[in-house]
Amino acid sequence: MLQGSKVWALWMTEPLQTLSARPRAATAGFVEKTPLERYVPPEKPSLVGLSRAQLVAALGTIGVPAAQGKMRAQQIWHWLYVRGATRFDEMTSVSKELRTVLDQHFTLARPEVVAEQVSVDGTRKWLLRLPGEHAGERPHEVECVYIPEAGRGTLCVSSQVGCTLTCSFCHTGTQRLVRNLTPGEIVGQIMIARDRLADWVGARGEKGDGDRLVSNIVMMGMGEPLYNFEAVRDALLIVADGEGIAISKRRITLSTSGVVPNMARAGAEIGCMLAVSLHAVRDDLRNELVPLNRKYPISELLDACRAYPGASNARRITFEYVMLKGVNDSLADAKALVRLLKGIPAKINLIPFNPWPGTAYECSDWAQIEKFSEIIFNAGYASPVRTPRGRDILAACGQLKSATEKLSARERLALRAMAMTD
Ligand code: SAH
Ligand code: SF4
Repeated sequence: MLQGSKVWALWMTEPLQTLSARPRAATAGFVEKTPLERYVPPEKPSLVGLSRAQLVAALGTIGVPAAQGKMRAQQIWHWLYVRGATRFDEMTSVSKELRTVLDQHFTLARPEVVAEQVSVDGTRKWLLRLPGEHAGERPHEVECVYIPEAGRGTLCVSSQVGCTLTCSFCHTGTQRLVRNLTPGEIVGQIMIARDRLADWVGARGEKGDGDRLVSNIVMMGMGEPLYNFEAVRDALLIVADGEGIAISKRRITLSTSGVVPNMARAGAEIGCMLAVSLHAVRDDLRNELVPLNRKYPISELLDACRAYPGASNARRITFEYVMLKGVNDSLADAKALVRLLKGIPAKINLIPFNPWPGTAYECSDWAQIEKFSEIIFNAGYASPVRTPRGRDILAACGQLKSATEKLSARERLALRAMAMTD
């Protein structure tokens, strides 16, 4: 396991390096930044991300008779979410006249892809451009990451531009600009992945449904999904729709830093799997690592987990625990973690900390991660250690950040070197 120490050491010897030496949250006096809520859509709206009912209503506005609305919406839904149509003229089961009218009023646009990076381990990261808050303003950028593994492919999807929260170990939390993504921008990320991987039904010439390359979704990209609840819910319901993209709710995991009031809603209104970013077993430390803990402390968070609709031994809640050297990685912490989760149907994911330029945290030593993991294993939990993926393209957890603050060529090379020796 490589912790990047060689590479960091290389940077540290550079007189011009600008790494700051302290974690932010220890000194930060605030918990949240103010999000920008307003959104200016492009001139012709995209049909991507509309619910079936909204699609019927949109067709009504261009003169489709009410009696035909449901059937037409069903046709468009199929072309969009099963076949991945990008143009109305691909929709051959829709009349030519209607296709022309649709084209005059709507698009099938996904967010614009401005960059694609492919890691040495096959991970792909797309940088997407979204409209800015005001007309004429600089566009916003957001990232989406595809992680291929044997037997499945996971897409890590963003829910916000930046994040209002300020977890001290997370790169996304350092980004000042924040806005909520629309349902279309969230569904659009899955559509882009299927476009770029030729993963639509029939696109690779397979007969029938075939095995999809994008088989799992994790809401673990930029942003706190439960602070953009309605849009995330509406988007995930489209993604899970059995007559469309059809990714089962058991293969969709929403990760939250602990927005307690919306956890029950996620279970009831989305019905997806839940992951909770715990990272500490004591409130004093969690206040520092995940400042939202000051609002919703560990006991309230765990009560919400116990009450999570649908949680059972077959549908366990995942607890994420980032391994920070000398901070939360003692064996006493491991034992306390096991005690804390007693009685909750849980899985524990130990995540090696992914360093980013400017952080003062270090990843725990591999030997320590193994000892920590053994305590958890002996307590009856499978405790997989999540292998960092796509390190060379800063695609790993918590490193997603808009390219507005670009890495220097030197930093990119250093990160690529880290991945090569992983
Ligand atoms: N906002 C949500 C989802 C996005 S973050 C949340 O916090 O759960 C996805 C996961 O990556 C979280 O568990 C987060 O704590 C973790 N993470 C953030 N920064 C990280 C880093 N630098 N190294 C490892 N994991 C990190
Ligand atoms: Fe936001 Fe999650 Fe990063 Fe915390 S860990 S700053 S909640 S994206």
